[in-house]
Amino acid sequence: MAPSIDPKSSAKHPLHDLPTPEPESPLSPRKPYRFSTLCATVENPSMKDQYGSSSVPIYQTSTFKGVGNEYDYSRSGNPTRSHLEHHIAKISSADHAFAVSSGMAALDVILRLLKPGDEVIAGDDLYGGTNRLLTYIRTHVGVTVHHVDTTDPTSLHAFIHPTKTAMVLLESPTNPLLKIADLATISKDVKERSPNAIIIVDNTMMSPYLQRPLEHGADIVYDSATKYLSGHHDLMAGVITCNRDDIAKQIAFTINSIGNALAPIDAFLLLRGIKTLALRMDRQQTTAKIVADYLNTLGFHVNYPGLTDHPGRDVHERIADGNGAVLSFETGSKALSERVVGSTRLWGISVSFGCVNSLISMPCVMSHASIDAATRAARGLPEDLIRLCVGIEDPNDLLDDLERALIDAGAIEFNLPQNRYVRLHGPDAGVAISRAVEKLALDGRNGEDLEWFVSAPGKVILFGEHAVVHGVTAIAASVDLRCYGLTSPRKDGRLSVHFIDIENFYHEWDIESLPWDAVTPIRTGEHHPDNLDQKLINAITEGPLSSLDEAKKNALAASLAFLYMYMALSKDEERLSFNFTARSTLPIGAGLGSSASFSTCAASTLLLLQQRISIPPPPPPTSPSTGHIHISHQGRRAIPPMVAEEVNRWAFVAEKILHGNPSGVDNSVAVFGGALAYTRAGFGKKSGMEAIQGFKSLKFLLTNSKVPRDTKKLVAGVGEKKTNEPELVNGILQAIQSISDEARRALADPELPRDSLLSALSALIHENHAHLITLGVSHPALEAIKATTSADPYHLSTKLTGAGGGGCAVTLVPDNFKAQDLDDLISELIRQDFQPYLTSVGGSGLGILSPYRHHRIRRSATRPTAQALGQVTPPETPIPRDGLGVETKDEDETLEPLRTSFETESILELSNWADSLGRWLYV
Ligand code: PLP
Repeated sequence: MAPSIDPKSSAKHPLHDLPTPEPESPLSPRKPYRFSTLCATVENPSMKDQYGSSSVPIYQTSTFKGVGNEYDYSRSGNPTRSHLEHHIAKISSADHAFAVSSGMAALDVILRLLKPGDEVIAGDDLYGGTNRLLTYIRTHVGVTVHHVDTTDPTSLHAFIHPTKTAMVLLESPTNPLLKIADLATISKDVKERSPNAIIIVDNTMMSPYLQRPLEHGADIVYDSATKYLSGHHDLMAGVITCNRDDIAKQIAFTINSIGNALAPIDAFLLLRGIKTLALRMDRQQTTAKIVADYLNTLGFHVNYPGLTDHPGRDVHERIADGNGAVLSFETGSKALSERVVGSTRLWGISVSFGCVNSLISMPCVMSHASIDAATRAARGLPEDLIRLCVGIEDPNDLLDDLERALIDAGAIEFNLPQNRYVRLHGPDAGVAISRAVEKLALDGRNGEDLEWFVSAPGKVILFGEHAVVHGVTAIAASVDLRCYGLTSPRKDGRLSVHFIDIENFYHEWDIESLPWDAVTPIRTGEHHPDNLDQKLINAITEGPLSSLDEAKKNALAASLAFLYMYMALSKDEERLSFNFTARSTLPIGAGLGSSASFSTCAASTLLLLQQRISIPPPPPPTSPSTGHIHISHQGRRAIPPMVAEEVNRWAFVAEKILHGNPSGVDNSVAVFGGALAYTRAGFGKKSGMEAIQGFKSLKFLLTNSKVPRDTKKLVAGVGEKKTNEPELVNGILQAIQSISDEARRALADPELPRDSLLSALSALIHENHAHLITLGVSHPALEAIKATTSADPYHLSTKLTGAGGGGCAVTLVPDNFKAQDLDDLISELIRQDFQPYLTSVGGSGLGILSPYRHHRIRRSATRPTAQALGQVTPPETPIPRDGLGVETKDEDETLEPLRTSFETESILELSNWADSLGRWLYV
């Protein structure tokens, strides 16, 4: 079907020139409403609502009764759709508008104007779906398609045929490279050379608010209304506008014939979306400019028409009223771009754009994947291109999120001379950051020359133990009793471990004598497979561990986990020689996750030594120009999520070595801190671990009954009880699920007053413990602790935690609990030969001591300790030099290794001592 064209049939009365409140007179002519008023005012004078409804009703009907009425069947016409089409025509300077089921449906309707033998000239940076449909038309309908670079109007000339050219299909700006086409010049050129050709513009990137191509010579304009027109990603729609009656007639015929008109409910939603188009667009494009400037300043190549050096900017300014909210940039490497995209949180990874929410994507692997790689390359679409579609969120949050992602991915680094973040160049940018960061943070030492000092918390199960085995949700939280791990370099080709709290175990091995033949190294960037390498485990057990005292079971297990990770993580050419000392303020074997916090310490130090993870650079001495530094207050949350995730993966490997089949809860709590809800797979549920956001740290008394437990036996006992008394046990399980649910809601509820939270938790602790007694997992020692804490004058709530049958009890301590009472209670518990620990629950996860040289203990006794230990000196602080520029060796500056103090400090003072060393960075 060839377009039969009547060039004279264009608009007589632009519909946007609606009557205004001002009287029309020669002295006071009507002023047309401005765009945002037009958008918000859905009014069709010829379709007044019979009830005066202030929003257009949904005529959710397929047929209409009567004969000869305006509407008979919704495929041909529907009042809700008519309202929408009138509204679209009004805001698009168009005589005719049509609403169909998607943007692609709109193009399909338009392309049906073609007949075999016709030629189409189309841009070379079109939306991928458009390319796909054009290819289909080319191969199935016998239409020739020429793709040309439309940024230069003259490049079309060679392809314009006086009779064969039937259509010219344009986008400006293009998606995703934001190339500009001079719609006005191209329309004029084409019309001069091929009068019957029709100019079609896909205006999706701009919307009628920012660009109305019919005003610049286009014959048909279409939009994917799924994007800006609707604005909320809650519908699919396409709209077509034109001024020519002949084309409109054919379009109406096609839509009615193929039946892809927009459904009434979607027409209603789209009308609602359009009312706020101008408002949304204003906000979105203002933020887009901020984001484009930010990336530009960092040194990335950014495509955005709002940037002064954007090619074709002058043309764009002439034909459009704004720059839109889509931009793209290149990082230099596809892998790096993937990491950036994967590291954002607020920017949703998604195709599409135009929504109030910001989106990030990689066109080559997402929206434009339907174009083959060779064609993409030929059309200059970089594989590493990242597209950003800016929404209406707070610009600062968007920048924060993007910056964090760029840092995490290793795309930018803090540059001290410039005092701001800058782009890292080259395909190794992601790797370069760890080196750069280390160089910056480590005062020029190599990572392996340093003492890496880390710590990780233990965990308590607050609710749901035992029941969790049967599918009930458990709530676990970090407890601020920690395991500490320290690596100290040795230069003698030996590796040693010192587990002070596990049988005070010390052993050293000659590194070359380890069973290296058995190891399959896990390279940087690779993950450990799901299953442990049994060959390596056997080789270690039969080799380096074989001569050791079998009675020291825990120490042997810890050594096995440590050696396994050391060997799997070692690079062939670099087998580092060092000592690893671990100490724990957590009671070992009391069900408080000491093994997971040990695993976390061992994994994180090994990863740091092997430079598989790196810590963020120190805060700059003054605020950087961007104002976005991600070392938050007191070092909390300073460790990037990607680092935490890598540590967690390896801590889980260690946990598998130590426990066989761990749930992963303990190591997740040790690494991430806070609290999480955990449900086991099975019982119709998927296994899941979810952080409880906003968990407020709580004070607890943890009391070790010192009674050893047999966890397996206790778990089996509950299982047996369930078989024998299913009704009783199932009822209990249900009750515990409600307790967990209620606790989780209360803990995450930001509005719940602290008092109410504490009393709710008290009651739940009480109830949960009573159920555990019924399940038969308490112990007289635990009941004694409970009785003591609940007695007058304390009245505190206590429950067992973990497997029960011994181990620990947890007692919630309200904020206003009298200090004297607490002292008395602690003394009383100690008198009964229990070991109480006053601790907080829900605090930080993995901690790494910043390896500034200034965290080291200085020998001098002349400087006050607080000043010497607590300070972090900005890295550019001049190093004392003598007159010749040689570094002076001030005795005051001489550093002493941490290891000696770490190994000798009293366990009671260990945590204060560690805190005093300097700046700790936490997850
Ligand atoms: N045109 C452009 C520029 C687009 O980005 C899209 C969709 O992403 C379309 C057309 C197709 O629209 P729809 O997905 O509504 O069919």
